[in-house]
Amino acid sequence: MAEFKIRQAAVLGAGVMGSKIAAHLANAGIPSYLLDVAPSELIPEEQSKGLTLDSPAVRNRIVQTGWKSALNSKPAAVFSPEAASLVQTGNFTDNLGWIGKADWIVEAVTENLEVKRKLFEQVESHRRPGTPVSSNTSGIPIHSIAEGFSEDFRKHFLGTHFFNPPRYLKLLEIIPTPATDPGLTHFLMRFGEDRLGKGVVLCKDTPNFIANRIATHGICVLFKAMVDEDLTVEEVDLLTGPVLGRPKSATFRTFDVVGVDTFVFVIRNLHDLLSDPAEREIFTVPAFVQTMLQNRWLGDKTGQGFYKKVRSARGTEIQYLDYHSMEYRPAQGPRFPALDKIKKLPALEKRLRKLVFGSDRAGKFLWRVLSSSLSYAASKIPEISDDIVSVDRAMKWGFLHKLGPFETWDALGVEAVAKRLQEEQRPIPPLVQGVLASGKNSFYKGRSGKTLYFEPATAAYVKEPERPGVIVLSSFRTRSRIVRQNPGASLLDLGDGVACLEFHSKMNSVDADIIQMMNEAVEEVSRNFEGLVIANDGDNFSAGANLVEVLGAARAGKWDVIDEAIRSFQQANSRLRYSEKPVVTAPHQMALGGGCEIVIQSDQVHAAAELYIGFVEVGVGLVPAGGGCMEMVSRAAREAGSDSDTDLFPRIRKVFELIGTARVSGSASEARASGLLSERDHISMNQDQRIYHAKQDVLTLAREGYRPPVPRNDIPVLGQPGLASLKLGLHTMERAGYISAYDKVVGTQLAVVLTGGAFLGTRKVSEQHLRDLEREAFLTLCGQPKTQERMEHMLREGKPLRN
Ligand code: NAD
Repeated sequence: MAEFKIRQAAVLGAGVMGSKIAAHLANAGIPSYLLDVAPSELIPEEQSKGLTLDSPAVRNRIVQTGWKSALNSKPAAVFSPEAASLVQTGNFTDNLGWIGKADWIVEAVTENLEVKRKLFEQVESHRRPGTPVSSNTSGIPIHSIAEGFSEDFRKHFLGTHFFNPPRYLKLLEIIPTPATDPGLTHFLMRFGEDRLGKGVVLCKDTPNFIANRIATHGICVLFKAMVDEDLTVEEVDLLTGPVLGRPKSATFRTFDVVGVDTFVFVIRNLHDLLSDPAEREIFTVPAFVQTMLQNRWLGDKTGQGFYKKVRSARGTEIQYLDYHSMEYRPAQGPRFPALDKIKKLPALEKRLRKLVFGSDRAGKFLWRVLSSSLSYAASKIPEISDDIVSVDRAMKWGFLHKLGPFETWDALGVEAVAKRLQEEQRPIPPLVQGVLASGKNSFYKGRSGKTLYFEPATAAYVKEPERPGVIVLSSFRTRSRIVRQNPGASLLDLGDGVACLEFHSKMNSVDADIIQMMNEAVEEVSRNFEGLVIANDGDNFSAGANLVEVLGAARAGKWDVIDEAIRSFQQANSRLRYSEKPVVTAPHQMALGGGCEIVIQSDQVHAAAELYIGFVEVGVGLVPAGGGCMEMVSRAAREAGSDSDTDLFPRIRKVFELIGTARVSGSASEARASGLLSERDHISMNQDQRIYHAKQDVLTLAREGYRPPVPRNDIPVLGQPGLASLKLGLHTMERAGYISAYDKVVGTQLAVVLTGGAFLGTRKVSEQHLRDLEREAFLTLCGQPKTQERMEHMLREGKPLRN
């Protein structure tokens, strides 16, 4: 079997997708050539400069514009400037020869069969035989693109459908044709998961593959239900966002961001490609959307779509489109009594059942939409996928739905949905009939921590296809695997002698329960395990300390309670650090404040590439006090080495700036550059693999004869001279209006901690000395009314107050 290795790639087309695919390859450390057409006409600016079509600046203008827009995109497409430097831009006329050096050629040019085929004809004459070639098409049948090309080309050709933005959306659909080498399909599926960090779903070469087929159907039935039930655009967004377990941008705000024209294109494409007349009929663009298209009300890119921002003397007002009159009306902030009733129900499944089976307007609308789209998904097995898991994964990973269609069937109850369909004399999909006929009432079933799913061919439950290297903590939440547990945290047995400390408090904020479990974990692991992983499956690793508790105690003047809480957090971090067994944290997404302190004080980190880590304490008028300042000073001193007099100050100033500006990393690579992660820490491109890899790191450390570090008593600190310099900086910043007078107060407390206290000359101090300073500064600031105002504002508004 042929061996594939991708060291270098070529991305053809530098539009919305191509440029961001190149950016994501760079994030994965893969250099690429990004190519687009050389312009055929000069723009006025080029003419005025006297440039010609042969001028180098002109020849690469289109590719450069695309690449620049990827570099400026928000959220950022690249992890870091170093990653960006891996992309080399060129054009199809002068640089097509470069693709001879590429190990993978990804095409992302205009969605047009002829354009793509013409380009591939040129690719044929430059690519090395055996080089994989893929198309990012969202709707053109893959086999039709490759038709008539050489056997070697067809054998190495397939679809690789990324979702926009490729860095952030997990789904990568891989679509082989009958001619594709199965070895290549297998290779790219693994490569997509391991190197690119994607969730890969294998698709059949059917119209719009899996995710866009199901999603577009959902949108078309939604349009009809909205009109029939006479709901407004705003009402539909309220009912199709977080209440359904879907993103806040719901339906129409998403349309406006992506572009109404893009959706229309996909709907028309499906209409053209499908053969069943009844099915084609569903994929019809409603009249009011056609009008929007004619009026170029395409969404954000043309300034108005389903919503419009209107500026008036009263400020900015959001208006929504009344699709009856085609006029915009002021947003009302709609309400449904049914939504108020379900607010308190914690489980999404329960909320869904209450809502969808309700007899009010909300219930009627949601039942219509969901019953149709769930039936459609069930009726498309095995046409678009042999198994239900791929469909659920595609919808969750491509559209950020919390539940896929078959999980939604289960949430509502397969029997209950089927019964109502029958009452309404609507067809029950054969797959659903199969589930019920075999005496079952769900598509999935959990057994001893494993998920089983219904397999139509055997009408039995089978084990969910595993994703190698992925550990899902919920599957360890069984009686035999839970070692200890309290309301905020658990200690789980991951097998092979490794335990996992899992947080599950609200927003995984660090509270007394978590601290208690940190202590218990040290004891338990020292007796019965080889080492510990600290990780969780929440949306974020940790949002930081529990501010409600801190503010409550500060308002009540309970200084001894705060002092004790900080002391116990410091001790827990220190016990983990010096425990006789290795501790590896596996943070993902946000690791803020106290969460950041836990991460940096562990023996090693195995972070998800998407890591937003930072000390955010100054935003609420505090300083890190769980050992975070101590650890950063200790690191700075270690890096400065013996020549600490000259080298220590710039390093401490860097730490001061990092903590003082509450800077949060935009990725794990950025965290490494800022010193929050070190060179010995590891990064997993695939967030779902981080816990598995952290476990392997623990085992490696244990095998290599792990010895805990020795607490330091010899940390050189700068004392008064360093403090004076940092204070001068704060003074200058205040004078220039960059910081407020109170920022300066907080900054001064931070400076005292980082310089080891106000004494003359350098000296060496213990870790405990620095922890004591942190605690003192924290307590002093807690007593300040402006710090309390900042905490209150953060809790109320979710953002910092600069008072
Ligand atoms: P785009 O219009 O932003 O970019 C297309 C690029 O193709 C442009 O840079 C253009 O210069 C180039 N091009 C135009 N005519 C050409 C020609 N004759 N020969 C060679 N190149 C030519 O498009 P996009 O949104 O980046 O989409 C690219 C592909 O990715 C399409 O197949 C699309 O269906 C697919 N896709 C798009 C999205 C999305 O959200 N935009 C998502 C998934 C897949």
